[in-house]
Amino acid sequence: MLVRLLYASRAVDPKPEVIEVILAQSRQFNPATGITGILCYGGGIFLQALEGGRMAVSDLYGHIQKDPRHKDVVLLHYEEITERRFGGWTMGQVNVERINTSILLKYAERAELDPYSVSGTVSLALLEELMATASIVGRT
Ligand code: FAD
Repeated sequence: MLVRLLYASRAVDPKPEVIEVILAQSRQFNPATGITGILCYGGGIFLQALEGGRMAVSDLYGHIQKDPRHKDVVLLHYEEITERRFGGWTMGQVNVERINTSILLKYAERAELDPYSVSGTVSLALLEELMATASIVGRT
């Protein structure tokens, strides 16, 4: 049983080194639990999609919610799925500051990552667009 979960949060200390450690940790541990996904960050905000078995995703999200490196963790979207969309990434990465602003403007009032002000469906559509425009790095 596969599920997809999407959440947003605010970094407590949005230094590149902190994000690198989170990505390294994700890429180290996700393969063993069969988790795949995308971590998008910009302007101190994280947007992460997690896919995998229902129990594995639920367990990981429980840990993530308690992680002191971020705050204001909000669930945006959760669904049972028949297939993965982000299966090529143990944890793909998108630095929003490096992408074409027209992609952000397509889905939001301003050219910034603000999943708090749009629906989960819109945030998921943004991730799909990032995938279609090859903006996601770190394919494994
Ligand atoms: P603890 O029980 O406190 O730590 C035990 C030890 O286990 C750690 O010292 C470490 O060496 C090791 N460990 C670390 N991660 C895991 C793990 N997943 N499973 C088993 N042992 C582990 N973590 C991910 O694994 N995948 C992600 O995709 C992911 N995305 C994140 C996104 C954001 C924005 C943030 C802030 C964190 C993310 N994390 C991710 C890290 C996650 O929040 C936890 O730090 C991690 O799951 C370990 O949980 P813990 O600190 O409660 O473990």
